[in-house]
Amino acid sequence: MPDQMSLFSEEEPVAEAEAAPSAPVTSASEEDVARIARLRAEITLHQRLYYEEDEPSISDGAYDSLMRELQRLEEKHPELVTPDSPTQIVGGHATQRFAPVTHDQRIYSLDNAMDLEELDAWIGRVVGALGRTPRFVCELKIDGSSIALTYSAGVLTQAATRGDGTTGEDITANAMTVADIPRMLANDAAARLAALAAGTAEPGAAVEFRGEVFMPKERFEKLNEQIVEDYTLSHGDDVSKAKVFANPRNAAAGSIRQKDPSITRHRGLETFIYAVARTEQIPATGQWELLEFLRDCGFNVNPNVQLCETAEQVRAFCLEAIEKRNALPYEIDGVVVKVDSFAEQAELGFTTRAPRWAIAFKFPPEEVTTILQDIVVQVGRTGVLTPVAEFIPVRVAGSVVARATLHNIDEVRRRNVRVGDTIIIRKAGDVIPEVVGPVLDLRPADAVPYAMPETCPSCGSPVYADEDSPAVRCVSAECPAQLQARLEHWASRGAMDIDGLGTEIIRRLLESGLVSDVADYYSLDEDELARLDTERLNKDGEPIRLGQTVAAKVLAQIEDSKGRGLARVLHGLSIRNVGKTVAETLVKRYPTIDALTDATEEELSEIDGIGPVIAASIVQFLQLDANRTLIGRLRDAGVVLEADLSEAKPQTLAGLTFVLTGSLEGIVRGEAEARLKEFGAKASGSVSKKTSYVVAGENAGSKLTKARELGIPVLDQAALERILETGIVEE
Ligand code: AMP
Repeated sequence: MPDQMSLFSEEEPVAEAEAAPSAPVTSASEEDVARIARLRAEITLHQRLYYEEDEPSISDGAYDSLMRELQRLEEKHPELVTPDSPTQIVGGHATQRFAPVTHDQRIYSLDNAMDLEELDAWIGRVVGALGRTPRFVCELKIDGSSIALTYSAGVLTQAATRGDGTTGEDITANAMTVADIPRMLANDAAARLAALAAGTAEPGAAVEFRGEVFMPKERFEKLNEQIVEDYTLSHGDDVSKAKVFANPRNAAAGSIRQKDPSITRHRGLETFIYAVARTEQIPATGQWELLEFLRDCGFNVNPNVQLCETAEQVRAFCLEAIEKRNALPYEIDGVVVKVDSFAEQAELGFTTRAPRWAIAFKFPPEEVTTILQDIVVQVGRTGVLTPVAEFIPVRVAGSVVARATLHNIDEVRRRNVRVGDTIIIRKAGDVIPEVVGPVLDLRPADAVPYAMPETCPSCGSPVYADEDSPAVRCVSAECPAQLQARLEHWASRGAMDIDGLGTEIIRRLLESGLVSDVADYYSLDEDELARLDTERLNKDGEPIRLGQTVAAKVLAQIEDSKGRGLARVLHGLSIRNVGKTVAETLVKRYPTIDALTDATEEELSEIDGIGPVIAASIVQFLQLDANRTLIGRLRDAGVVLEADLSEAKPQTLAGLTFVLTGSLEGIVRGEAEARLKEFGAKASGSVSKKTSYVVAGENAGSKLTKARELGIPVLDQAALERILETGIVEE
């Protein structure tokens, strides 16, 4: 289960809280006190679902995020920390289902490092406390269920779950069915244990080994398929209520805690053993030697381990684990870094809930929680009103985000979010932030459902709902938000690519009346432009003018843009449903604006990639007098309204899909992709069976690995350059 970072402090907030009166004197606001109470209740609920029922209802990331919020609030108000707060205890309780087992030595949880910075901070604290850099052992953090195996005289006598760390559940009968758990330790190892014990006060003492029981990913998929199949047999085709497991970890936890051991036997569970309760019972001086000894005993020990001499090596192991993660046949949720030497471990000791000599480096969370502060509405260049969620900035999958589109009112309803909600944010495809939904139990009593505005937030005109889509639209031709957006779009990179015309200048041009449509750009006067006020103020508080130099530069760029060709013009005109690809398709069939204007809806819809909806938008646009006038003015200004076919390349790469990865020297990836496309190739961001070639530059990572796994040919930069020259792949 995800756990929170420890403060690694010497203070024990628990003790303080115990001494405190039942209603502690606090400077915390009522809001904070209430939030703490609600977070505790919510986290406790999720702990129960996770540990006891093996049926979590939110992701680890979202859970972690709630826990961290609680921890931050408790750090702010230490007087409010109570011993039963989820921040103070190891999650999970032993259930009544199994006999309780009191652990000989408490099973601690692990503190987390949520990123490399926190990992460095932990290493720093360890080095500071020891006064030297110790050796570290890095292991994968297996995402299964903790298990403790007790051997007496080399024979397995008891198996238990972790429970709350002090008391677990007796699952001996079930553990006996797990194929890789030895019933007896290998002879040599057992003899070494006995020899070591002989000279002590407890010669016959049992030895408790610890590790993780897990379900390999493939077994997990099969198990869920089986559950669905069985369900269909008894309940018919509606499988929505079939009780499948949420993930391999819950499947493992559920399977090792079956009432009937014969069910456990067929679940295909496996184990990795990595610890021992009392290190003094073992012929090893540190974690690295312990792993070796565990192998000698006959345990399954994870081979992906490394002894590290430096912090740099530890970091590299963690980064590599992130890359390797998906290719492993079992799930991991991080890396556990341990100080190798047992003597040094003893020197560092434990906090109330975790060892100071180990840390779990967690992979970047794909889901986090935050508070939805507002839903604002943006007006796009086609007049569509888009609700956008604004929330307290959070770090998710490696970057900080504060806004995410909610697309339209249907999506707001479907996601069921209200301002004030605690919401779960995810990175879709690891790039675009997305609102998953609210944590309903944390919804403020006064939160109200969201409604779209009835008038345009930009111009105040009434808005209308589209008939064929959930969009709400402002149809006013005068709407400044649309004008601004259209003028910006014309100048944007994929369209006419006029670098100097940014948001700010365009706003000023609109306000000053110098420009009210895209054709106006081409009649701008250098002196007028130079006199335009910018946002910056001089020392007397007056706006600084754009100036002659900048004005001349912008005008030169505008002049340059005239020759971009018809496809860019069509894209730049903000015709509904006409993006870059559609525009490029259109000009291949209709290389002049006149030919395109003459085309009928039927003719257009016959083109591959242009359906009736797109055809209708094009005809509507080109038929409108105002638009024809605009196009006429562009023509008069000298804007080329013909396709630039002279440069059309032979489509030698048609049907091939390329994936570019790693860094290419002197070539921008997007540009290389565009040039491949000119030869008819497709470029994709992810490797699949459909990929024809992967071009790998320096430091290529997981995509390269995947290409190798799938047997996809890999090309280097030199090969790419030859292809861009000739349009031919030499193999
Ligand atoms: P947590 O449950 O998040 O507090 O993390 C601590 C748990 O991680 C331990 O109780 C183990 O069950 C689990 N774990 C998985 N792999 C390892 C490992 N290589 N070393 C130590 N603990 C591990």
